[in-house]
Amino acid sequence: MRKSVSIFGSTGSIGCSTVDLIAHNPDLFDVKVLTGGANWSLLADQALALRPKLVVLNDETHAADLTAKLSGSGIELAFGRQAICDAAKIPVDLTVAAIMGFAGLAPLLESVKVSKAVAIANKEPLVAAGDLFTQAAQAAGCQILPTDSEHNAIFQVFEPENRGAIKRLILTASGGPFRTWAKDAILKATPEQAVKHPNWSMGAKISVDSASLMNKALEVIEAHYLFDMPADKIDVLVHPQSIIHSMVEYIDGSVLAQMGAPDMRTPIAYCLSWPERMQTSGESLDVLKLSRLEFEEARHDVFPTLGWAYDALRSGAGACIALNAANEVAVAEFLNKKIDFAGIFTCVEKMLENFAGQTVQGLEDIVYLDDQVRNNAKAFLKACYGLSQ
Ligand code: NAD
Ligand code: MG
Repeated sequence: MRKSVSIFGSTGSIGCSTVDLIAHNPDLFDVKVLTGGANWSLLADQALALRPKLVVLNDETHAADLTAKLSGSGIELAFGRQAICDAAKIPVDLTVAAIMGFAGLAPLLESVKVSKAVAIANKEPLVAAGDLFTQAAQAAGCQILPTDSEHNAIFQVFEPENRGAIKRLILTASGGPFRTWAKDAILKATPEQAVKHPNWSMGAKISVDSASLMNKALEVIEAHYLFDMPADKIDVLVHPQSIIHSMVEYIDGSVLAQMGAPDMRTPIAYCLSWPERMQTSGESLDVLKLSRLEFEEARHDVFPTLGWAYDALRSGAGACIALNAANEVAVAEFLNKKIDFAGIFTCVEKMLENFAGQTVQGLEDIVYLDDQVRNNAKAFLKACYGLSQ
């Protein structure tokens, strides 16, 4: 029996790696849904290769282009935000959640109701609505499969039956492209410099997050929700080689780590084939070629983001929502060359100051607060940088 799979965000970095793995293993998977944001041409190519039942494009302005390219294929088409949420209501064995940002939350909440398992790469919804998501998955009996490489590593060495014997989770961080840069240079860095990640090839937003260490900040919060661990049992270590993807330390002194080449196809394959394992075409780790593995503390004086994640976890859901929403707005403006790198830090810090104390009760509150923070962040950046919007 082939496993039925839907991929949300199939045209992105994670999405393309997922499509690649599935295309190499047509006997294992039956693709039901593919969704993309704006890249209709790539989405059409993927659809023609994988023959899903349904394809959804978020950007309705390219409806005619996609329709023309897929005419006669027999593949159903739909367009827009609501259509993506509706596609998430189609029952499948596995949903791959690979949309970028908070925009992935609404379909994700639908997916957990009808999917046997959800492979979650899309970390922003977890940060902004971690309790809601994990509770919804638990209520529906949906297995969560962490796909982010660090969380996937932890998942692989996490002993649920011995959770009380876990001393701490150790998330590793590459340190990003600015690991050794002077503070002044970092604050003036350009988008081109920020997206040039030393080890991983990823989407633009997460690449900037890696440069600011916001990615690791989001991952601390992600780990808290995925593994139900308090902030003081989650540590971060910079490990520039990105070979050890994360570790779990137990009270008997054992430290279990998962290693591999820095290639997202490994954690994605783990999720696609779970609870079994599948062949990947990715580079295998040549242990003999590893001269040494280095570890160092993160530079908290230069990167305030990590500290904000711990503060946010202690402060509550409002702070996590503010941290994420402010960062999404600021990174988008930075990538559009409207603000400098320093502006990301200034904006997030200001929004945490304004909104960290807010409490939220459910989805409506979360969406409302997220929206408020975004509007406030845009107004703040407009005032600081004279942006016209
Ligand atoms: P990406 O920007 O390359 O791709 C994002 C995908 O989502 C694309 O298909 C895009 O069209 C779609 N999308 C974007 N905005 C949308 C919207 N508003 N509505 C519907 N679809 C939309 O991003 P990525 O690097 O693949 O990352 C995806 C998610 O996975 C992010 O949350 C990221 O943090 C996480 N993640 C990525 C990596 C990686 O190696 N790229 C690793 C770990 C976690
Ligand atoms: Mg990661």
